[in-house]
Amino acid sequence: MTICNQCTIEKEINEFPLLGKGRRRGICKDCRNKKRNDRYIKKKTGFEKLQLTKRMLIISELEGGDKIKDIADRHGLNYFTFQYWRRQGQLIIA
Ligand SMILES: [Zn+2]
Repeated sequence: MTICNQCTIEKEINEFPLLGKGRRRGICKDCRNKKRNDRYIKKKTGFEKLQLTKRMLIISELEGGDKIKDIADRHGLNYFTFQYWRRQGQLIIA
């Protein structure tokens, strides 16, 4: 039995991935898989964090020609943040 450096749970030796030459990783397969997945799950930031219905509404207002300031005010958003998102091309429904 070996203790995983990540989750500190004691596990069977075959739960630790082989590194070759008989050596094994210090972290178990579960932790390794979790790490691997975390890398692929992109954290939602900025505009993407808003609710989808809100985002759809904002985009339709933009398309309707409303002023950024008015839209920002209406949705309780910071005008500069909103402008930043727009410059970054974040104002899309992903
Ligand atoms: Zn572990």
